[in-house]
Amino acid sequence: MSASPSLNAARRAGEIAEVADRGRADLLVVGGGVTGAGVALDAAARGLSVVLAERDDLASGTSRWSSKLVHGGLRYLARGEVGIAYESAAERGLIMGRIAPHLTRPLPMIYPWVPGVGRGSRALAGAGLAAADVLRRAAGTRRRTLPGPRRLTAAEAMVTVPALRRDVSGGLLSWDGQLTDDARLVVAIARTAASHGAVILTRCEASDLTGQGALLTDRLTGESFRLRAGAVINAAGVWAGQLVAGVRLRPSRGTHLVLSDAAFGGLRAGLIAPVPGHRNRFVFAVPVPGEARVYVGLTDEPADGPVPDVPEPTPGEITFLLDAVSGLLERPPGPGDVLGAFAGLRPLLGDGEATGSTADLSRRHAVLTSPDGVLTVVGGKLTTYRRMAQDAVDAVLARQPPGALRGQRAGQLTGQPVGPLAGQPAGPCRTRRLPLIGAAPPQVLAKVPAPARLVARYGTEAPEVCELARREPWLAEPVADGVPVTGAELAFAVRHEGALDVGDLLDRRTRIGLVPADRDRALAAATRVLGVLPTGT
Ligand SMILES: Cc1cc2nc3c(=O)[nH]c(=O)nc-3n(C[C@H](O)[C@H](O)[C@H](O)COP(=O)(O)OP(=O)(O)OC[C@H]3O[C@@H](n4cnc5c(N)ncnc54)[C@H](O)[C@@H]3O)c2cc1C
Repeated sequence: MSASPSLNAARRAGEIAEVADRGRADLLVVGGGVTGAGVALDAAARGLSVVLAERDDLASGTSRWSSKLVHGGLRYLARGEVGIAYESAAERGLIMGRIAPHLTRPLPMIYPWVPGVGRGSRALAGAGLAAADVLRRAAGTRRRTLPGPRRLTAAEAMVTVPALRRDVSGGLLSWDGQLTDDARLVVAIARTAASHGAVILTRCEASDLTGQGALLTDRLTGESFRLRAGAVINAAGVWAGQLVAGVRLRPSRGTHLVLSDAAFGGLRAGLIAPVPGHRNRFVFAVPVPGEARVYVGLTDEPADGPVPDVPEPTPGEITFLLDAVSGLLERPPGPGDVLGAFAGLRPLLGDGEATGSTADLSRRHAVLTSPDGVLTVVGGKLTTYRRMAQDAVDAVLARQPPGALRGQRAGQLTGQPVGPLAGQPAGPCRTRRLPLIGAAPPQVLAKVPAPARLVARYGTEAPEVCELARREPWLAEPVADGVPVTGAELAFAVRHEGALDVGDLLDRRTRIGLVPADRDRALAAATRVLGVLPTGT
């Protein structure tokens, strides 16, 4: 690492002017979701000069609407897609073990045996979990990180989930990976890319893409300029097909509810609820780390037609999720327990048919080349972002004459001294062994002098957040009653995490906006922080 990982309004303004002035880069990445940020990091770490253009904010698309799990691909295993399941398990192990231990934690999941869950379903679930554990071992993830599955007695199940139906007769306990927050993962990847010299431009829309560059428009000033690039990677998720010809996607909507933890009597593990009438379909409820909230998901509905900026859950999906989870609980939650709901669109690769269930579509990813040379990386999932990025950058390098992309790092863009790889051919992928900003082994994280909630969000940077609150006591206050986020977290987001407005603060750097009532109450604090730190310097 050589450049600063701090993203803010002042840096953005300086870099966009320099990029416009210089007019070229080795690689232009379009889209600042987990895929685009991953590509920017991969390429910058190999020594390429990279510009990432995101038309809105980091993680403003699907990457903030996920279930926030880094999962081992149990679902793919059930469909016989062993290769995808193994890839998921391997990437999960890398993220939890080295890349982002601070942003992940092992999540216990319980599959309770309630009346209606027959012997056949129990045996099938047990076999699936055992197979997933074989993949965990094959991927080299230790039991210390993710323990193996086991049977639970009825008493154990009741202790872990006090709100379970009294007639539960036992269950299965398994473990998977949970993110503190998906949007924070994206921001951490983008900042790490910036620390390797990538230029991260939010509010910068790309259009008129070709294999040699694109038109970039600064959405804050309205000014446009053409950026020439050695290669262009389209990582625009569900919008990818709008930017280049020949990319056929079949978006699928997934909806989650946000419920109060009280509706579950204090949930200490995730719950897996079978969907009545389906052998291989489940709804889950997972506790939100550090908050008294539970996410309940997940639907899988074809979302053909125009792609909305912010997808909306339908009333039918909300009822479906409540019904599925209610079957497990003594006192079913009602509409009054729902604090919020959110939906996202999976950028699934179409199978050529515009009909049928999206649940049956594969979750594989692909790197596609359009006739005019733009590479599109699409499909996949959050857990496999690193592998998607590696494949995309490998594809870029495979198309170039040897040494054509000669590691002109962003230092050259900014006129600063160039990095150690400048003038050298781009190197091999380095991200398997590259920790994100704030990452450290668990034993180091355990000693970081800051509250555990902050360490789970900022890792080794947590003391900097505490220091902001120490210097400005008003920043030590929670931004609203019942919301644990403090003003110092918002100030850190403005100074170091590229937050430019209230939406960035409340909807992506923090997830206060997932509960609309909380968002309303936190607006004043966010506005005040932005007023005090208008330039982010
Ligand atoms: C409901 C749901 C739950 C999920 N849960 C999980 C999970 O728990 N674990 C998991 O591993 N995966 C999960 N996934 C899958 C995962 O979330 C997605 O595969 C992933 O987030 C896609 O990221 P992306 O970067 O490709 O797309 P996006 O996050 O959508 O990013 C694309 C970006 O491109 C930008 N853009 C578009 N057009 C332009 C333009 N012209 N110029 C510049 N920028 C542009 C957009 O603003 C957007 O920010 C889930 C998906 C859904 C829908």
